[in-house]
Amino acid sequence: MREMRAATTGTTALVPTMGALHEGHLSLIREARKKCETLVVSLFVNPTQFGPAEDFNRYPRDETRDADLASAAGADVLFAPSPEEMYPRKTTVVSVKDIPDRWEGALRPGHFDGVATVVCKLFNIVSPDLAIFGLKDLQQCAVIRRMVEDLDLPVELAFGPTVREADGLALSSRNVYLSAENRRLAPAIYRELQRCQHLFITPGVDAEAELKNSAEALEAMGMAVDYFDLVSTQDLTPRSQPVPGDSIIAAVRLGGTRLIDNVQLA
Ligand code: AMP
Repeated sequence: MREMRAATTGTTALVPTMGALHEGHLSLIREARKKCETLVVSLFVNPTQFGPAEDFNRYPRDETRDADLASAAGADVLFAPSPEEMYPRKTTVVSVKDIPDRWEGALRPGHFDGVATVVCKLFNIVSPDLAIFGLKDLQQCAVIRRMVEDLDLPVELAFGPTVREADGLALSSRNVYLSAENRRLAPAIYRELQRCQHLFITPGVDAEAELKNSAEALEAMGMAVDYFDLVSTQDLTPRSQPVPGDSIIAAVRLGGTRLIDNVQLA
């Protein structure tokens, strides 16, 4: 991995991805491009952040296409290690406290240990001055921010907005798993998030009742709602009453596909 450091000169930015690049990833790459001399994009489907029953084996992979897209968006260096290079043996684990206890972390045990460990390794391998992550994965952003603070990692973090399809569905590499019918239904998740986002401007609104109404509306369409909740954006602690800047987070299963999304209150 030493050659990675040699390949970077000047201010270096890193955009970590699991490949299957879409416009969401590319927006982060373009943003990073403006802020550095050397831009590294990593492509690594990280086995340690997938649970045993999850989609690691069928996760979409197309390294040639990803390399072309990343280069066209401004990447100077692609880092696409094999699992054996990253994990030659059972690995030491970086385990962030508290933030992973809820939401994605509670439903996907070990997921954020895998994320924190691989991101910490990528930071050490690439030594970036700046790393950019997508707010689409809000809890992941909070976990990484906390890891950087707790471990005094010398990297600046930036977070990019969620890129959506024209009908509002957040772009995700997993959207390709959706059947045509479920793809048609999926934008309802963002519509319900927006509905609550607008309602929560009104003082005295019964936020818990509205969150429940939204979850029930999605369930009525045949979705299984893992959570649809109001949280503080910084550390994702639950809120019963909205505070400006809070986020509404959702995770929904549709067919065999799990989708997550969030919106932030003004
Ligand atoms: P992934 O390949 O899913 O691990 O995602 C790599 C990075 O892209 C993460 O920082 C994600 O949060 C970000 N990302 C994924 N989807 C989107 C999106 N729709 N808009 C913006 N960023 C995204």
